[in-house]
Amino acid sequence: MPDLRKIDVQFVKGVGPARAALLRDELKIHSVHDLLHFFPREYVDRQHIYPISSFSGEMPSVQVKGRFVNFTVAGEGAKSRLTGLFTDGTGTMEVVWFRRIKAIRQAYNPGVQYVLFGKPQSFNGHWSIVHPEIENTETASAARGLRGVYPLTERLRNSSVSSRSIFQWVQTALSVYGRSVEETLPAHVLGKYRLVSKSDAIQWIHNPPEHITLQRARERLKFEELFYLQVKILLSSNKRSGMVRGRVFPRIGSFFNNFYSQTLPFPLTGAQKRVMKEIRSDLGSGRQMNRLLQGDVGSGKTVVALMTMLIALDNGTQACLMAPTEILATQHYESLRAMAAPLGINVKLLTGSTKAKARGEIDRQLLDGSLHILVGTHAVIEDRVKFRDLGLVVIDEQHRFGVMQRARLWAKNEFPPHVLVMTATPIPRTLAMTLYGDLDVSVIDELPPGRKPITTLLRYEQQRMDVLKAVGRQLAIGRQAYIVFPLIEENEKLQLQSLQEGYDFVREAFPSYEIAMVHGRMKPAEKEYQMNLFASHKAHILVATTVIEVGVNVPNASVMVIENAERFGLAQLHQLRGRVGRGADQSYCILMTKVKIAGDTRKRLELMTSTTDGFVIAEADLKMRGPGDIEGTMQSGIPLDLRIANLATDGQIIQAARNEVEALLDVDAEISHPEHKMILPELRALFPPVSDLSRIS
Ligand code: ADP
Ligand code: MG
Repeated sequence: MPDLRKIDVQFVKGVGPARAALLRDELKIHSVHDLLHFFPREYVDRQHIYPISSFSGEMPSVQVKGRFVNFTVAGEGAKSRLTGLFTDGTGTMEVVWFRRIKAIRQAYNPGVQYVLFGKPQSFNGHWSIVHPEIENTETASAARGLRGVYPLTERLRNSSVSSRSIFQWVQTALSVYGRSVEETLPAHVLGKYRLVSKSDAIQWIHNPPEHITLQRARERLKFEELFYLQVKILLSSNKRSGMVRGRVFPRIGSFFNNFYSQTLPFPLTGAQKRVMKEIRSDLGSGRQMNRLLQGDVGSGKTVVALMTMLIALDNGTQACLMAPTEILATQHYESLRAMAAPLGINVKLLTGSTKAKARGEIDRQLLDGSLHILVGTHAVIEDRVKFRDLGLVVIDEQHRFGVMQRARLWAKNEFPPHVLVMTATPIPRTLAMTLYGDLDVSVIDELPPGRKPITTLLRYEQQRMDVLKAVGRQLAIGRQAYIVFPLIEENEKLQLQSLQEGYDFVREAFPSYEIAMVHGRMKPAEKEYQMNLFASHKAHILVATTVIEVGVNVPNASVMVIENAERFGLAQLHQLRGRVGRGADQSYCILMTKVKIAGDTRKRLELMTSTTDGFVIAEADLKMRGPGDIEGTMQSGIPLDLRIANLATDGQIIQAARNEVEALLDVDAEISHPEHKMILPELRALFPPVSDLSRIS
């Protein structure tokens, strides 16, 4: 069979060299294979004719059937345009051409019936279609089913390449080469998921006889796309390739055992136990652990991190915990020291502001091994920081560290340390397994017992007095409150002003309470001073911007008011809300909005009032924002250029593809069995070997 990737698209009848160059530059279509894999953006039902009287709002491309009443030419030379008045009996619209005016004027006549196809636009109450495709109803083929509409660029349109032209080239290519479309999935996979063959899928995605066939074609092509993405990810991941050997930590020794039996102040939740099992199996496997630990705020990740560190210590190595900010590093340091010091474990903190003398001691103790756990910011990955034997690295809030920074840490040892990455920004598992392809994913999906879910309320400006009263009641029983103002990025001055006004208002509303204030433009020392006022309960109310989003832990704070809540994204609201509900008492989060809200904004805020489950929120967030934002943050180093699958909405297919690829690699790690022979060539064509960044991490 001919290799369709090797046949230049110019040889498709009707394309030719000039248009081939356009297709290449504008749409990255080089070959016949590319052309057949250039899928329609939408479909039009060819049996459906739209009455002009029914046009309204934002219209898709539609078919209209009727006659031209007359034609008029306006303007001169390059500026001239041809307008045809078109009626279908229900209404009239204008049909406009800017090019090929003479030819068009000759081709179409008033009084004859035509079917036009194009996107109606409305201006000043009048509808028009620019450069529609036109078929004479007498001579038109009795086309049925759905017709694909292909995405175009401005330059293509200006060169008279229409969706119709592409449609026709695709039809030609299908008739000549359709039989040469090779199957890319193993027969047992097709059978198991009842997927249609590749050649049927390609035929139907361009020419669906009906909706159900389109559906099946899309399903098959999505599966294929995600299948190859998973093959790529799993083959490049350390886990599968066995490239990175890891040290084995077989011992559970006295550090771990003493902590577990004597110090641990509560029983672990089921989820924490399960995750510890997963981690222990990694540490015993002989391969380097690369595990992403996801858990909602307050789910108890810290103790899991500590127990993992204790295993590293029990096996004679050191551990290091890295956090994105000084505040967070300090908090981790304090809670780890409180739990670890009674066991005789030496924990130290290293940040940019560590004094020279303390630093000297840290350097010495790291080298002679008497420092067991180092907690810090980016400072811990500077070259001068040398461990005697680093066995484990814990990274908090992974998304703020890039792949390169992780790589630097790993370079500190001849045997790379195990890596545990913790994040409180939950992402759906199927997405995690794609974005963080080289990481295994563990999830703590259960909160410690006794937590009362935070009550979240949506309130409008006219209810402000009630809101103030509710806050007052919490303060009166000795609780504390956060009042959060949105970040106004485009205008820093305005932001400070609104924060200051907010502060003044809060002062007037609560004259008998102390009020602290923090924002991003403060000097670190001032910020810390204000935070401490609140943390030590000297201040009762904290007026803040989103700087408090991560890590701030004041269990006595039981109410948070978020002003202009409509300005925040879902993920951010969830993180902010996580600052309350950290104690045993009922907590409240009040979303204030001044404006009438509708659409997605309303959905967002209402979702917040209906659930506290971070994964539900993350999933909804992903669907509302679309995956684009997230692909931008790809950590796996694998280029993602999806044609048809959607990471946000195709979770089930991702999962199925992942399972299938894992099962396949289990029985055929080299992908050399005859029934899998199509996989490696296809993979190489999809992901041509360039300098392979993913290897670095
Ligand atoms: P996060 O996952 O947000 O880092 P933390 O580790 O800070 O959560 O834990 C939140 C709080 O819950 C801490 O006060 C911690 O001591 C407590 N905690 C953790 N695990 C349990 C448990 N199994 N039972 C009761 N309390 C727990
Ligand atoms: Mg934490």
